[in-house]
Amino acid sequence: MLFSELSLHERLQKALTEMNFTEATPVQAAVLPKAMDKKDLMVCSETGSGKTAAFLLPALNHFQDNPMPNASTRMLILVPTRELARQVLVETEKLTRFTYLKAGLITGGEDFRHQVNTLRKNPEILVATPGRLLEHMDNSNTDFSDLEYMILDEADRMLDFGFSADMVRIASESRPERQTMLFSATLQQKGMVELIKLVMNEPESIMLSSARDKHENIHHQILLADDISHKEKLTIWLLKNETFEKAIVFSNKRVNAHQLCNKIRYHKVRAGVLHGEMDHSERKRVMGMLASGQINVLVATDVAARGLDIKGIDLVVNYEMARNGDDYVHRVGRTGRAGEKGLAVSLIDHSEWNLMSGIERYLNTRFEKRAIKELRGNWKGPKKLKASGKAASSKKKKLADGSKKPTGKQRLKTKKKTGKRRESVQQQAPSKTVDAGFEPMKRKKD
Ligand code: ADP
Ligand code: MG
Repeated sequence: MLFSELSLHERLQKALTEMNFTEATPVQAAVLPKAMDKKDLMVCSETGSGKTAAFLLPALNHFQDNPMPNASTRMLILVPTRELARQVLVETEKLTRFTYLKAGLITGGEDFRHQVNTLRKNPEILVATPGRLLEHMDNSNTDFSDLEYMILDEADRMLDFGFSADMVRIASESRPERQTMLFSATLQQKGMVELIKLVMNEPESIMLSSARDKHENIHHQILLADDISHKEKLTIWLLKNETFEKAIVFSNKRVNAHQLCNKIRYHKVRAGVLHGEMDHSERKRVMGMLASGQINVLVATDVAARGLDIKGIDLVVNYEMARNGDDYVHRVGRTGRAGEKGLAVSLIDHSEWNLMSGIERYLNTRFEKRAIKELRGNWKGPKKLKASGKAASSKKKKLADGSKKPTGKQRLKTKKKTGKRRESVQQQAPSKTVDAGFEPMKRKKD
């Protein structure tokens, strides 16, 4: 659907034209009319599908048509991280360029007094992370008695971060007649039903995709790794040999991110690191460097997994596998945005195999197994797979009791317990079992 067919204010149309947005994305086309109808909405649509403009446009259009210069805050957008807040602010400013509407940013790490000034100026729109916003509420710096729109972007992540009570409190202190809309690519989380009950009013759900639907623009691969040092080599090889414009390498721990970044830099890759415990100005500086292209690799923890939209990211490396299917979806969703293509490569060691296969099943997909010739490791994957795709336990008894008699060669190797045993048994495993192991199974979320 073309934006020109939607009855949007001309100043917004002008901004959209300037941004080269001509056609509404599916989520925008689905949300706009419903949101303009004042419905509470919970919206699930894949990463990079344009959810930001989907929640901004209906509100901005309403504000253009109904100016209320004396109202207090009219729209509050809550997001889980500072970087995402900044990005949403930038998109808001682009869309409001030709209007008199103003937006303010309230996040941790920034000067509190400056934010008090921002709040005094009373912008129509506030983009905030919950923690800092509550501090301002405690100091009576905010007024949500006129609030018309409350947006919870990446709502499931805010639950993960333990912001549930904060979101409920913010909602309870804002105008009850407000319209509340909740957005993410993953909304199956425990606790979501409870949150919805507390902050929303008979919401309608718009489910354009779930985590289990394939993201057509992202190609998934795995590389088997023996240990940390092998993973480092593989990561460096990928960054040296893959063709990419920008890449994000995800690690599960801050210290690992730092160490890996140093190693990568040593190999003359222009890399920077981002995690939640870093100094705020440093976080901003690194994000700026990535945006401008001064660095082209970001080594990050999951703080960078949500919502960030950085032009040119076409490679995501999971140095350590994401902890669950939803986190995986968001990490790899930093690529393949707005119709672009992307590659996601996960490095899997023996301790991560079952996690990986659980994620495959959750996503209803099968990752391509890739190997790098010059960096082939010793571990070739579990020697035997269960129907689920997980590693079968390698108890000797099973092998001996199996209906199929082990071949003489196999028996010999089993007895000798040579290091090569794994490999040869794996080769002997009937390929049917292996295939079945990857077959999508109906299963509840892992
Ligand atoms: P999501 O929140 O669904 O992950 P974003 O709102 O961050 O996605 O949008 C992803 C990218 O798509 C952004 O770069 C944004 O500028 C771009 N985009 C959004 N809507 C459109 C559109 N209608 N036409 C072209 N590009 C768009
Ligand atoms: Mg988003």
